[in-house]
Amino acid sequence: MSIPLYDIVIIGAGVSGSAIARKLSEYRLDVAVLEKHVDVSFGVSKANSGIIHAGFHHKPGALKTTLETRGNRMFDELHRELNFPFKRIGIIVCAFSYEEMKVINVLHEQGIKNGVEGIVICNRDKIHELEPGLNRDVIGGLYAPSGGIIEPYQFVFSLMESARKNGVDLHTDFNVERAEYSAGVYTLYSTYNEKVRSRYVINAAGLHADDVSRILHADDFKIIPRKGEEYILERNAKGFPRQVIFPVPRSNSKGILIIPTVYGTMMIGPTAEDINDKEDYSTTYKNLEEVFSEARRMVDAISKKEIITSFAGLRPTLKGNDFYIDLSKKAPNVIQVAGIQSPGLTASPAIALYVTGLLEDRGLRLVKKRRFDPVIGKPHRIRDSGAEEITKLIEKDPSYGHVVCRCECVSEAEVVEAIRKGHTTLDGIKFYTRAGMGRCQGGFCTYKIMKILMRETGTGADELTKRGGMSFLIQGHISTDGWYPEKNASQQPEKAENHEPADR
Ligand SMILES: Cc1cc2nc3c(=O)[nH]c(=O)nc-3n(C[C@H](O)[C@H](O)[C@H](O)COP(=O)(O)OP(=O)(O)OC[C@H]3O[C@@H](n4cnc5c(N)ncnc54)[C@H](O)[C@@H]3O)c2cc1C
Repeated sequence: MSIPLYDIVIIGAGVSGSAIARKLSEYRLDVAVLEKHVDVSFGVSKANSGIIHAGFHHKPGALKTTLETRGNRMFDELHRELNFPFKRIGIIVCAFSYEEMKVINVLHEQGIKNGVEGIVICNRDKIHELEPGLNRDVIGGLYAPSGGIIEPYQFVFSLMESARKNGVDLHTDFNVERAEYSAGVYTLYSTYNEKVRSRYVINAAGLHADDVSRILHADDFKIIPRKGEEYILERNAKGFPRQVIFPVPRSNSKGILIIPTVYGTMMIGPTAEDINDKEDYSTTYKNLEEVFSEARRMVDAISKKEIITSFAGLRPTLKGNDFYIDLSKKAPNVIQVAGIQSPGLTASPAIALYVTGLLEDRGLRLVKKRRFDPVIGKPHRIRDSGAEEITKLIEKDPSYGHVVCRCECVSEAEVVEAIRKGHTTLDGIKFYTRAGMGRCQGGFCTYKIMKILMRETGTGADELTKRGGMSFLIQGHISTDGWYPEKNASQQPEKAENHEPADR
């Protein structure tokens, strides 16, 4: 069988790789994305704060600053085209002392230089008028109305759906393990010896960008994971803010934030700790205490009793803390998209533009497709629909009337849609539909989703996974009703070599 030859292969289907793929799908190019996981957005892009930053946190001149402010401005149009959840609710930074007000002045000046629209310094009265839930000892602060919130995985899914609609090939479960370069063409090999060839390679491998760079015989750099623990509180939790609330920043992070999510839950975090282990997603009681005490300095009403879950994400940082996006100095026609820590989500659309510019500078001819279609349809969501609309949906497909996840109000039809779009793990369905993200954290809906997955995909119960690889949902035997087949080591899928932690 002949090995497919592409103009450009992107390694990594996080927000960076997906945004680049979507941008390149505007041109007459053969493009593929290779992703080691069984779904997209299963790397750093699945576990973050979901904030579209305004652009005042970083010094003018840094690459991440330029791309952050440019990226922020691109979200309204992207939202119209791709229909992901996004709200421009604004950002507030709180100051508790005159020393902290000096930092507010610096942030304000930076914001003005960076071109952040509408950014203003607030006195005590103004800041409390904007955010009535703040503690009285907040003496002033900064307000940036252009900051926003987003559902990060749905953003990535929509970017990739749009890219694929416009001709990009996605190869999931393709862990790039080896590369050869000969006569201007790279051959990339997966763990299972699948092969793909390409003239250009874009390394957007997140936490593993340094490993992939080594595989490509390209530049030598080291990614340092910076762990961030976050806590999610129920809908209608006490202290729910109108804007995203920040303290003044620390040396290595923006501090502990209070974040209203697009779906009405509240998130507190993230911590920032440099670690060595790229697989350490643990959360600790010590950090929980620290996170809540910092958050309660700003809004006293916040309570640990309302936590529904916690998670940790790892920021892929480089020494110097800036993004590294450039043509490799060592390997021909390789573009490095590395060190994409925060504000990578915000910057992603601008990262895609920047990478496209680098390809053009390198001599790649970019010719626009006559039929690029920027729009993808809005998925039907019964939780966002009125009674009349739901009645119409049920008339068309009665399974819209069968609620699978009660906490998040997700119907069977929505789960089936997720599966048909290629999200065939419990996490993929969760990220696409929100089934399992609510108060009971999948306690009531997991078995229902498993049954739908088995029916739709013909997969056995003992083959279903949380996120692919060895993360099987059922371990051992179920003997009570004899309905499930016996677990047999020889029945395990051949490709199950991606050792992953069982849960986070
Ligand atoms: C706690 C936390 C909070 C954050 N909050 C925000 C925020 O509020 N706003 C913001 O703008 N940014 C935020 N960020 C930053 C943002 O999440 C990241 O910058 C962004 O998600 C990075 O995306 P990426 O596509 O570069 O990396 P990833 O999402 O990790 O994508 C890389 C992909 O490459 C794949 N891959 C790796 N190796 C291989 C291989 N050998 N073969 C094939 N595929 C491979 C991985 O599986 C992965 O899917 C936060 C980050 C963290 C950790």
